[in-house]
Amino acid sequence: MALRQTVDFLLYDWLATQGVTQRERFSDHSRDTFDAVLDTCERIARDKYAPFNRTVDIQEPAFDGEKVILPACTQDAHDAYVQSGMLSAAQDFDIGGMQLPYTVEAAANAFFACASVSIGGGMLTVGNANLLMKHGTDLQKQVFALNEFNGRFAGTMCLSEPQAGSSLSDVATRATPDGDDHAQDPLGPRYRLKGNKMWISTGDHELTENIIHLVLAKIPGADGKTIPGTKGISLFIVPKKLVDTEGRLTGERNDVALAGLNHKLGWRGTVNTLLNFGEGKYPVRGSSGAVGYLVGVAGKGLQCMFHMMNEARIGVGLAATMLGLAGYYASLDYAKTRSQGRPVGPAGKDPSQPPVRLIEHADIKRMLLAQKAYGEGALALGLYCARLVDELHTGDESQQHQAQWLLEVLTPIVKSWPSEWCLEGNSLAIQIHGGYGYTRDFSVEQYWRDQRLNMIHEGTHGIQAMDLLGRKVLLDKGKGLQMLGERIQATIALADHHRESVEDHLEPTEGHRERSEAISLQTHAHALQQAWTNVVQATQAAWQGDDPALSLANAVPYMQAFGHTVLAWMWLDVALASQGEGDANHGRQQACQFFFQYELPKIGAWLNVVNSRDSTCADMPEAAF
Ligand SMILES: Cc1cc2nc3c(=O)[nH]c(=O)nc-3n(C[C@H](O)[C@H](O)[C@H](O)COP(=O)(O)OP(=O)(O)OC[C@H]3O[C@@H](n4cnc5c(N)ncnc54)[C@H](O)[C@@H]3O)c2cc1C
Repeated sequence: MALRQTVDFLLYDWLATQGVTQRERFSDHSRDTFDAVLDTCERIARDKYAPFNRTVDIQEPAFDGEKVILPACTQDAHDAYVQSGMLSAAQDFDIGGMQLPYTVEAAANAFFACASVSIGGGMLTVGNANLLMKHGTDLQKQVFALNEFNGRFAGTMCLSEPQAGSSLSDVATRATPDGDDHAQDPLGPRYRLKGNKMWISTGDHELTENIIHLVLAKIPGADGKTIPGTKGISLFIVPKKLVDTEGRLTGERNDVALAGLNHKLGWRGTVNTLLNFGEGKYPVRGSSGAVGYLVGVAGKGLQCMFHMMNEARIGVGLAATMLGLAGYYASLDYAKTRSQGRPVGPAGKDPSQPPVRLIEHADIKRMLLAQKAYGEGALALGLYCARLVDELHTGDESQQHQAQWLLEVLTPIVKSWPSEWCLEGNSLAIQIHGGYGYTRDFSVEQYWRDQRLNMIHEGTHGIQAMDLLGRKVLLDKGKGLQMLGERIQATIALADHHRESVEDHLEPTEGHRERSEAISLQTHAHALQQAWTNVVQATQAAWQGDDPALSLANAVPYMQAFGHTVLAWMWLDVALASQGEGDANHGRQQACQFFFQYELPKIGAWLNVVNSRDSTCADMPEAAF
């Protein structure tokens, strides 16, 4: 099925997103207005993004010593994105926003990611501005955030440093008060920053008038020392070009210098930079040090950043999902047109018979079905989590409470599962193309290269797994786990109820397909029940004993089993909503069947090492490698 049909089904038939228009915040909206946004984004993605996906891969960003040069198509796509209003999709009407539910915003952004993930939409700019709307002063919102929402300025997130990636407690960037009047600056307490930030996406370009960096740095105490760990980290607004209180450029360049571009495996359309803050290349008022304005309270910078994590991680998961689906659509097209080989059996031995198309081979169907199950399953999970974000912001007290706990445990999964399994999907898309898939004449190799980033950024796979097993499932005596269990139980009960109602309304001789689907779904429900019980038991088994290092040694297999169980739940729930005739419903039933037959059983091996607290990896002496 085409992407739009799948999105429409998940948004409206499965998640009943149109129901949120009952809420005051969304009461000016209707399914028509949601559709209009989806139509616009689909059209821009088709016209301004998809045709240039290869161009931005080949014409990598370059630095001429003064400016970063990007292909013209990137500016065109960026301008079209700004004009669509998507940068302020979720904002209030009175500041020029659309007051869209996040679920619709996330679904609309999916079209851009599918068409060209590395031309990119506004994920970083929107994330940056949202953070300022939450933690900034009124003037910081006015000067920086609003100019990001209207597209004048772009935003970045500067956390990583060459020596501090996963471990942000080791950031070495320092911020010192800028003069005696530093606390009186209307834009916020003013500091001078010095340090290096590595891997900064969109860190330098000419797409916008200005770039607003959000930078993590430590403020030394009177003794010149900083507080060790993450507690001493503060957050600063560091504009590339200095601005006045009206948001106008003052004409002064801030002391932020591009030290170099990173040349990446994929995602090449997005410029990635090493930035030097405060090295003196662009002295401000005669001295070195990048001018930065404190956001929120000193020492609480990481907490401010973490407020944005749910949406950022859903965004990364959805980008991974879209790359997975892009590979699926490309390999599906290829499999329908390429002829190769003859069927297994006597007819296949006759070379005078014409060859069949790839899609007629069972093994090719296996690889297509796997991609469909990974991609559409991940899309369901991404939109489900996006809906939880809407519950968190606009639901009643009980809905907010549940959404918060569910997002705690689902956020590591919504980021990591698509990153791992849609990468596998992209590999299968190459496989379906055979040797052609290994060349640059077809799109699938680029999808794989672009995809490979997702297990690395926004918290690596290993770090996400430790966050899940080491923190999220333990919080408040496992409250998130318990709430997720209740949702899974509700779907299982629905499958039982569905089977009963099919039996009730059908005569024994009719509805063969309907009946057999209902029986299958009930069987899957029982498999899901068992899988969930096993995950919960493994959670307890992992924490037996008093050696946390050993408990966490198999965090990744734990997260894989957890993720597969969550996806099995998604597929069962989606399949229960896919009743009736039609290829789309049939396809979803088959993908659900595939997931339960070919994927869910894998969790046994993953949970075995968790349950037995297997120490094979942890015990391996370095010298023995
Ligand atoms: C293309 C790209 C874009 C990026 N964009 C940005 C950006 O815009 N802003 C920004 O701030 N950062 C950005 N990053 C940085 C990214 O978030 C980091 O690369 C990531 O956090 C990992 O840090 P690292 O590369 O230093 O790897 P390391 O932290 O050195 O990790 C290397 C490996 O060791 C593992 N590991 C690390 N610590 C542990 C541990 N305690 N236990 C077990 N395993 C561990 C990791 O899981 C990983 O597999 C980007 C990175 C890339 C590649």
